[in-house]
Amino acid sequence: MRSLVAEGYLSDERVIDAMLRVPREEFVPPEYRRLSYYDSPLPIGYGQTISAPHMVAIMTERLSPAPGHRVLEVGTGSGYQAAVLAEMVGPRGHVWTVERIPGLAEFALSNLSRTGYLDRVTIVVGDGSEGFPPAAPFDGIMVTAAAPDVPEPLLEQLREGGRLVIPVGSRWIQILKVIVKERGRFKVEEVLPCVFVPLVGRYGFRA
Ligand code: SAH
Repeated sequence: MRSLVAEGYLSDERVIDAMLRVPREEFVPPEYRRLSYYDSPLPIGYGQTISAPHMVAIMTERLSPAPGHRVLEVGTGSGYQAAVLAEMVGPRGHVWTVERIPGLAEFALSNLSRTGYLDRVTIVVGDGSEGFPPAAPFDGIMVTAAAPDVPEPLLEQLREGGRLVIPVGSRWIQILKVIVKERGRFKVEEVLPCVFVPLVGRYGFRA
């Protein structure tokens, strides 16, 4: 954690605190536990990965969730990022996280239950490229899989002033984008190149 601060990935105290409170080793398969504090992605089964800590730090800082916020995550995976978001939104906020692979949703459910986050996190099995209309609008939406384009439903489900953080590009390389909804218009900022597993779904890539 100190190296993420030293290397300039982390500066927001609230994100530093949130990441210090979530035990990453509880979100990786047992055989990778001893590697859980390396700044690297790790396999979580089904060909998917838990993001590297520096990427979690960058995306969380860019989303900048505040206490009481309603946040949507697309791509639950291990549940680690959802736990960090849950720390940020606090007891009055809520995180909805959508995962398309039922076995990973179960893995995340057991990780989030063991670490005590289920009061603030709801896991949904489905195609998150369509967002999650029943809980919209959201103060923030974070997509942790690579999209070919920005899915229209996610823009529609942002509230005024809300932010969307999403990697957009090809299956192999993307640009992390931050999109802010201001007076019904969308302001787009490109942050840095990155590599995520593909978003597979109606507004994503084909399986
Ligand atoms: N945020 C996760 C890592 C995500 S890896 C963590 O903290 O561990 C990307 C995840 O997105 C994978 O689990 C993959 O199955 C999921 N995914 C891909 N396409 C999706 C879609 N259309 N809807 C929901 N989840 C999707």
